[in-house]
Amino acid sequence: MRRAIKRLLGRTLFASRLDALLLRSSAVIVAFHRVQDTVEPDDGLTVSARMFERHCRFFRRHFRVVRLRDIVEKLERGERLDRELAITFDDGYRDNFETAAPVLEKLSLPATFFTVTKWIGTDVVPWWDRERAACHPWMTWDQLRTLHRKGFDLGAHTQTHADLGRLSGAEAQREIVGARLDLEREIGAPVDLFAYPYGGASHLTDANRELVKAAGFRCCCSGLGGVTPTGSSPFHLRRIPVSLWHESPHQFGFEVAVGRTPVTA
Ligand SMILES: [Zn+2]
Repeated sequence: MRRAIKRLLGRTLFASRLDALLLRSSAVIVAFHRVQDTVEPDDGLTVSARMFERHCRFFRRHFRVVRLRDIVEKLERGERLDRELAITFDDGYRDNFETAAPVLEKLSLPATFFTVTKWIGTDVVPWWDRERAACHPWMTWDQLRTLHRKGFDLGAHTQTHADLGRLSGAEAQREIVGARLDLEREIGAPVDLFAYPYGGASHLTDANRELVKAAGFRCCCSGLGGVTPTGSSPFHLRRIPVSLWHESPHQFGFEVAVGRTPVTA
């Protein structure tokens, strides 16, 4: 279905409050990577600042935007979810601090930033940016401390963006536990939220999910898409990546409300 049609259907769906029925007893967790105005047409990791703000206003209008840990706590207590939406960011790009956080603050919206701890404050260029001859700076530890002080949550995303579908044993443990220790040492506060790199089904083994639990994390987020129904395990949280593919918030909303996929794992 064309995106323009989805946008129109999304408008109708949300105007008629059909979304309340379709998304009842569920929460939505969205994942962003970069928010900046230099967006190339095939850049699947970036949304413009203007579009980011439009998405945030849509979230605020149609959902109950909460912290990711609020959803985790509800699931831990066995409580019913009720159209919560949590905003998350992966990797730790500097535009999260410079561009996205000011929009979130302006709209009084909470968010969680998952960072690759050994890249913070460095000039490491990951393979996916190198392939595009792009170089996007990372946040510094000072910037992360500022986000924490302002009430945003920080979470771990391994030390070096490890593929936890391939690593095992001590190597995997070092990436998972090490990321937590790096963050806690630099921030001076407990860190208990985890999102695994790449986020696909093949990027995390059951054994490594157990390592995430054993490391003291309270959740494990994928990038698998779909909503989070009441009764889900916090260690199988699905997130919906938001990208250029979404030409409008209503297109996004339509896809979320109609294309809901149950948590099966
Ligand atoms: Zn990532």
